[in-house]
Amino acid sequence: MKFADIVIDISLEKLDKTFQYLIPENLMDKVHPGSQVIIPFGKGGRQIKGFVVDISEEPKLDVDKIKPISGIAKDSIAIESQLIELAAWMKRNYGSTMNQALKTVIPIKKKQSIKEKKTVVLKLDDEMAQIEYNEMLSRARHSIYKERLLKALMDAKEIPWDYIVGDMGISSSIIRDFADKGWIEISSERTYRNPIRVSHTNEGDVILNSDQANACDRVINDWNSGNTNNTYLLYGVTGSGKTEVYMKLLEETLNRGKSAIVLIPEIALTYQTVNRFHKRFGDQVSIINSRMTLAERFDQFERAKSGDVSIMVGPRSALFTPFTNLGIIIIDEEHESSYKSEVAPRYHARETAIARAAMNNATVVLGSATPSVESFMRAQTGEYKLLKLENRVMDRPMPQCDIVDLRDELMSGNRSILSRKLQLAIEDRLNKKEQVMLFLNRRGLMGFISCRACGHVIKCPHCDVSLSLHGGNKLKCHYCGYETANPKVCPECGSKYIGGFKAGTQKVEEIVKAQYPSARVMRMDMDTTRGKHGHEDILKSFANHEADILIGTQMIVKGHDFPEVTLVGILAADMSLNASDFHCAERTFQLITQAAGRAGRGHKPGNVIIQTYQPDNYSVVAAANQDYESFYNQEIAYRKLMDYPPAAHMLLILVTSENESHARGRAEAIVALLNKTFDRIRCMGPSDAGIARLNDIYRKVIYIKERDYEKLICYKDEVEKYLLDSREYADTATWFDFDPMSGF
Ligand code: ADP
Ligand code: ZN
Ligand code: ZN
Repeated sequence: MKFADIVIDISLEKLDKTFQYLIPENLMDKVHPGSQVIIPFGKGGRQIKGFVVDISEEPKLDVDKIKPISGIAKDSIAIESQLIELAAWMKRNYGSTMNQALKTVIPIKKKQSIKEKKTVVLKLDDEMAQIEYNEMLSRARHSIYKERLLKALMDAKEIPWDYIVGDMGISSSIIRDFADKGWIEISSERTYRNPIRVSHTNEGDVILNSDQANACDRVINDWNSGNTNNTYLLYGVTGSGKTEVYMKLLEETLNRGKSAIVLIPEIALTYQTVNRFHKRFGDQVSIINSRMTLAERFDQFERAKSGDVSIMVGPRSALFTPFTNLGIIIIDEEHESSYKSEVAPRYHARETAIARAAMNNATVVLGSATPSVESFMRAQTGEYKLLKLENRVMDRPMPQCDIVDLRDELMSGNRSILSRKLQLAIEDRLNKKEQVMLFLNRRGLMGFISCRACGHVIKCPHCDVSLSLHGGNKLKCHYCGYETANPKVCPECGSKYIGGFKAGTQKVEEIVKAQYPSARVMRMDMDTTRGKHGHEDILKSFANHEADILIGTQMIVKGHDFPEVTLVGILAADMSLNASDFHCAERTFQLITQAAGRAGRGHKPGNVIIQTYQPDNYSVVAAANQDYESFYNQEIAYRKLMDYPPAAHMLLILVTSENESHARGRAEAIVALLNKTFDRIRCMGPSDAGIARLNDIYRKVIYIKERDYEKLICYKDEVEKYLLDSREYADTATWFDFDPMSGF
C-alpha cells in the first residue's frame, strides 16, 4: 500500500503540516508529488483540495484510520504543482528531506502581509443602472445607503472599497448585496512594494553585430520550428556583447506572450546591470536580491504569478519564480560556483533550471566567457547547443597579456610583491591618468606549501591535488587522507624558501601606497564591503575615476564596466592552482581570464600583467592567450584520467559532530555499509575535511566516484535508509553533496 503526504495550505509555515491519505489502486499511476488531489477533510468529511508533497509506504497511523484520496483535481494545473514536482526532483537528485526541498522552491510568506487594495466597479451599463435606480426609488422603504452607493457608482463607475466603507459610511454588507445582484464587481489590485527605482533614459537600441545576430537566430529559428525545449551554451569572450543577446531573446520571449527568468550571480547584480534590463523592459522587469526582506521577495513572486511582471532578474533563488508561462531561463556567468547551493538540497541552478524548463517546454541559455568544463563538454557532445561570440564588440581588441615569472624576480633580488615590469606599467598609467586594477587571487587558500625558488607544489601522489598543512608539521590530502611530513627543503630543487604563501589585500594596499604616494588607492575585499551597499559604492566611485588604483579580490572582476582601465595586474595568478580541490585549474583559468577581461573595455586598448610562479601551467598559459579551447582540452584530459566530474560524477558525504570519534565512527559505518552493499563501489575516506573542525564541530568526508549518476542516487538512498534506522551516533549530522563545487 502507498500513502501520500498532503498539504492543504501552501504557505511556508504550513508546509510542515501534512496529512496522510491512502492512494487507492485506481489512482496509483496518477498520484505523484505535485498532484493536486481532492480529499475528505475534518469531521464532516468535507471534500477539499490539497497538494501531494511526498509518497511513502509507511503508514503514520493505524491503516484503517487513514482515509483514501477521493480523486484528482480536474481544473488547470496550479503553478504550485509544478514547483512541488521540482522539489521532489531536487530531493531525489541532491539528497535532502522533502521539507527542505519544498522550503527551497516555495519561499512563500504569510498571506496577511499583502496590502490589498480593492475597488468596487459598476458592471451595469448606464441604461440598466438607471432602471435599477428608478426601481429602487419607487419602493416605499428603501435603504438610503443603497441609493447613495448606486448613485455614486453611476457617476464615478468605480470607487475604492476603503472610500465606500470609510468616507461614505456604507457597510460592507451592502457592497456584498450589490455584488450578489450582479451589479458590481470587486476587483482587487494588490499594491506591491516595488524594489526598483530607476530613472528611465531611453537609450537607442544597439544594433546587433553579425555574431550576435547569428546566435539569436539559431535560437529563434528553433522556436519557430516548434523546438523550444533546448539548452544553449552561449560562449562569448569578455566584452563580446552577451548581454545584448539575452536582451534580444527576452524581447522575443515577451513577444510570444511568455515570461523569463534571468539568473545573475549576486556579486554581479549591481545597479549598473539591473538598470540595463530596466531601461530595455521598464516595468515588466522585477528583481530580487538577498538584501531584500522576505516580504519584499514575496511581493515580487506574487507579481510574477499574477502576470504583472514578465522578467525576473535575480540570483540562484530567482529560479523558483512562480511564472505560469515560463518561456526561457537565462543563466549568466554560468560557471560561477555561487549557482550551487550550500545548504540542503545542495542543488545546482543549471541542472535545476534544465529540469524546470523541461516541465514547461522552455529554453535554457547558459552564458559565459569561461564556460564550466561540465557545460562545455555537454556542448561538445551535442547535449547543449553551442553559440559562439568570438570577438569583442566594435572591433575592440582583446587585451594584450604578458606573463611574468616570479621565480626570476626572486633570483634578481626583487622581493617586492610587484614585479619590475608591473611597477613600470603602473607608473606609465599614472602618468597618463589612466586607471589600474590590481587583482589578488585569494581563492581556495588552504595552507598549501610551495617553493618560492622553483614553484614546486607538494601534491598527493594518489589524487593529484595539493596537500595542505595541518597542525604545523603534517601535510594531508583532503580526498583520500594521505599524510606526509612537511619537508624542510624543496624536494625538487633543495631550496629552503619553501612554505605557505601569505599576502592579503591590506598588505598589498600598504605596499602600493608606499610606492606611489601621490596615487589615489582604493581597496575592495570582504572587510571594506561590509555595509549594505559597500561593494557597489566602491565600484561606482572607481567608475567615476575617484581613484587611480583599485586593489581587490575576485570581487572586482564582476558587474561593472570601467572604460578607463587600461592595465590589470594579476599579482599571484597561480595561488588558486594550489587549492586542494580538483577544480583548481579551472578556477585559475576563469579568474585570470575574467580579471584580464576587465582591461580595455573602453576605447583605449588594455594590457594585462600576470605574475606567477608557474608560468608554464596550462591554465595560466591558456588564460594569457585567452584561449578557452586549449585550456578545455587539457583540463578534460586530466578529469578523464582521474575520473573527476564531468568525466564521472562524484558524491561527497559529510559527517559532522562535536564529538570527533562519533563523527569518525559514523563515517566509517557508512563506508562499511556501502562496501558491503555495493560491488566495486569506489569509496574514498573517511578523511578529515579541508576544514577539519569548524566552530568546534568535527568534519569527516567520504568521496565516491561513479560514471552513472543514478548509481550515486542509489548509494545516497541506501545511506538515508541507514540513517533513519540507526540509533548509534545520534549526535552526528550527515550531508550529501553531488558533484561538489568547492572543497569542504
Ligand atoms: P559581455 O556581457 O559579453 O561582457 P556586454 O553585453 O556587457 O558584454 O557588452 C559590452 C559592451 O558592449 C556594453 O557596453 C554593450 O552596451 C556594448 N555592446 C554590446 N553589443 C553591442 C553592439 N552590437 N554594438 C555596440 N555596442 C555593443
Ligand atoms: Zn624548489
Ligand atoms: Zn589523495
